[in-house]
Amino acid sequence: MAAVTRDLPDLAAMEAFGARLAAKIRAGDVIALSGPLGAGKTTLARAILQGAGHRGEVPSPTFTLIEMYDALDPPVAHADFYRLDNPAEAEELGLDDYREGAVLIAEWPERAGGFAHEPACLAIDISFDATGRKAIVEPGTDWLGRVP
Ligand code: ADP
Ligand code: MG
Repeated sequence: MAAVTRDLPDLAAMEAFGARLAAKIRAGDVIALSGPLGAGKTTLARAILQGAGHRGEVPSPTFTLIEMYDALDPPVAHADFYRLDNPAEAEELGLDDYREGAVLIAEWPERAGGFAHEPACLAIDISFDATGRKAIVEPGTDWLGRVP
């Protein structure tokens, strides 16, 4: 499906975008967040988790690689694949088990082999834009009519 652009001029816009995304997620979805260090991937992941009802800390999974939020409906797995040397390591982490019945929010998705080929993937590429950010959103076919 065609990509759309979202202007996110400040942190409040980023958080509002996350809240709108949270209202749309379904089990089986992948929110693939790409962009350079400091782009706002973890910030957006936190906003989605908070919008989905999570209260409390959202530690960056830079070292744990995957943080699971089982109490949410649907459950959400938040992964950061930055430290993977090889996409095969994603399987060794048990990624498929984490994803069962859950939404996956993935930072550095390309290091896990990428998810954009999955119909339920919403690929969001965040870049710096003046003092804010810009997101290019590429929906898989399962996102028809759901792109916030
Ligand atoms: P990443 O996970 O991509 O490395 P982080 O989310 O950890 O990036 O950090 C992004 C930084 O940019 C944070 O300091 C956050 O407050 C800031 N930020 C996030 N979104 C925006 C935005 N739309 N405009 C300006 N600053 C933002
Ligand atoms: Mg991050």
